[in-house]
Amino acid sequence: MSINVDEMLENELSAPKRLKIGINSTIANPDVTRHIMKAFNLRASKRLGQNFLVDANIVRGIVEAAGAKPGDRILEIGPGIGTLTQGLAESGADVTAVELDKKLPAVLAETLAGYDNVTVVPGDILKVDIPSLMGNQPFKVAANLPYYITTPILMALLEQHLPISVLVTMVQKEVALRMIAGPGSKTYGALSVAVQYYTRPHIAFDVPPKSFIPAPEVDSVVIVCEVREKPAVAVRDEKMFFRVVKAAFGQRRKTIMNAMKGAGFDKEHLEAAFAACGLDASRRGESFSLNEFAILADALL
Ligand code: SAM
Repeated sequence: MSINVDEMLENELSAPKRLKIGINSTIANPDVTRHIMKAFNLRASKRLGQNFLVDANIVRGIVEAAGAKPGDRILEIGPGIGTLTQGLAESGADVTAVELDKKLPAVLAETLAGYDNVTVVPGDILKVDIPSLMGNQPFKVAANLPYYITTPILMALLEQHLPISVLVTMVQKEVALRMIAGPGSKTYGALSVAVQYYTRPHIAFDVPPKSFIPAPEVDSVVIVCEVREKPAVAVRDEKMFFRVVKAAFGQRRKTIMNAMKGAGFDKEHLEAAFAACGLDASRRGESFSLNEFAILADALL
């Protein structure tokens, strides 16, 4: 494993006793995880959304859902102590893992010592320059995401039009249900539209709280989002499309006309656009399909 880090020098960790963790130990195990945490004096940080996987079957499931294989390049977000990273590395793929917690690169240097196909990059995934990190060749994303910033991370990855082929991520079940929801459903919202605009999402499997240390208070699932070659609907201006979507769901109990007026769209401009495209302005935004949002956005240009 390589670590391209000056920041590691800042690390306060004193060198741990040599761990009996190596290429033959599976980190996704409660005893091994406790052992690593104890050896490095680690406490799972709630603030950083740290819930470490301890179930090897779940790790295997994520690796399989990603179709990880030799020759693949995988961006992992938040490797933690290396649990999922190890499974991904075992597939033969090249793994680049971005971790925010400054204490963890030193831990990963030890837990993943046997793998020369892993690079750990210290930093915040929302600030890292992903194009310069991953280049312009296709890559996959795999992550057990920190739940406190799931949506911003997903949106940042999707909006950048990166050459991602598939995103396989552990998320809160409630978030996954929002990602796959369709028009008319209570959970349908701006996140559903954005995810379905860029990808084809499906839930791969459920993950119970006991698969983590510490156990989260919510149910989790692994969701697979296959990134579309072209967005699901053609729009003339993506910015306008998402402005409309955001406005429509901003006040979801109002008619789309009132919600959009409330978001600052001009009344006369809206009336002309609705008249021109034939969509009913008295419907609620939550009943609009992606295609209808696209038609409305184009009519507003
Ligand atoms: N991958 C490990 C596993 O499956 O056991 C850890 C998953 S834990 C749910 C989330 C990880 O994301 C933690 O290691 C946390 O420190 C890291 N993290 C939190 N915010 C981050 C950010 N903005 N950028 C990169 N990593 C982050």
